Amino acid sequence: MFLTQHRIALISVDGDPAADIGQEEAGGQNVYVRQVGLALAERGWQVDMLTRRSSPEQAAIVSHGPDCRTIRLTAGPAKFMARDHLPEYLPEFVRKVQAFQKQMGFQYALAHTHYWLSAWVGMELKSQQTLRQVHTSHSLGTVKYKNTSMISPIASMRLAIEKACVDSVERVIATSPQELEHLRTLVSREGRVEMIPCGTDVERFGEISRAAARKQLGLAPEAKIVLYVGRFDPRKGIETLVRAFAQSKFRGEANLKLIIAGGSRPGQSDGIERERIEGIVRELGLTDCTIFPGRLEETELPVYYSAADVCVMPSHYEAFGLVAIEAMANRTPVVASHVGGLQFTVIPEITGLLVTPKDEAAFTTAIDRILSDPTWRDELGQAGRERVETAFSWHSVASRLSKLYTLLLLSPSRKLRTPVAS
Ligand code: UDP
Repeated sequence: MFLTQHRIALISVDGDPAADIGQEEAGGQNVYVRQVGLALAERGWQVDMLTRRSSPEQAAIVSHGPDCRTIRLTAGPAKFMARDHLPEYLPEFVRKVQAFQKQMGFQYALAHTHYWLSAWVGMELKSQQTLRQVHTSHSLGTVKYKNTSMISPIASMRLAIEKACVDSVERVIATSPQELEHLRTLVSREGRVEMIPCGTDVERFGEISRAAARKQLGLAPEAKIVLYVGRFDPRKGIETLVRAFAQSKFRGEANLKLIIAGGSRPGQSDGIERERIEGIVRELGLTDCTIFPGRLEETELPVYYSAADVCVMPSHYEAFGLVAIEAMANRTPVVASHVGGLQFTVIPEITGLLVTPKDEAAFTTAIDRILSDPTWRDELGQAGRERVETAFSWHSVASRLSKLYTLLLLSPSRKLRTPVAS
């Protein structure tokens, strides 16, 4: 079978790069895969992004550009399924990848896998064909289970696969020094791990002024605007933000606004969390000053980020947290929890502020400090923009990945004996 050195697969079983982002477990991973895929194609790679079909209406192939496409493979029912229900369909996914390669008459030379479900798929493929595997975790079971009281029944399988992956694949990519440290201290000291951060779209973001963005959204030029962008998930800590906002010293001012942006589906986990947050907003008497615009499209994101005085990420944990660098790219300072990759992206007192997660009073103080001083807000915003331009563009991420792939393709591939059982 024809093996082309430039044909690579980005495997993201659960995170469809062509999906609508901001709801249904579709967040940073989907954005990462799509943006890296596009940027790699610009560098001459032929990129197939392989994902699981989650609705019968979805096209099997979506072309994003000349050498970048999403391939949706049917494995299990063609409907949305929570990640924890996907392991039983992984062997079928592997068979579909093999059948697809056969049908197309080529074999991928390298697969970059995303999240532990795809790590297993990559290792299984690697046991059966010549393949270099690069892996990005996006979130680690070992860290997640430390921060949650609800331990999923598939936890032990996830932990075993994450360890096997670090021990055996050609390279694991940590997206922040904090994730690298977690991989080394909590997952495995074996294997090869390298830090390449996530990126953001420095060209698309940062184009619109605060005044123009507010006008577009019908918000007053002198308003004080606090913004949250992200999925509705208890891990995101939106409750902390709402309770902190309720204590702001600006409470009662007509133009104080809290915008909570993100998609949700009634009756599903994100819909349930949104209802819970709406309940807290009502209970605290914040209904009149809180706006829920729903899921933001790609084109709306820069407008909301630019309109805000401060973007808040009150997460309990983030391996990276794209929203922080997106806000910074739009010259908006960030108040974030002092956790995971947020400690890497946000520089305290320079591009925003870091506070203890779940500490409502600390969030209130940090938000109020920025709302009180528009000159300082602008300085923090400008420094954030500069930080993103130098450290976090998709082009620099793709350039580093591209060099790594080339290096790996020039070295002999190690075939896996037997991957961990499903
Ligand atoms: N997002 C979006 N629309 C929304 C809410 C979020 O496009 O309404 C995007 C956001 O811009 C970011 C991603 O979803 O690119 C969230 O990534 P992040 O790493 O912050 O969090 P995750 O969802 O991966 O936990």
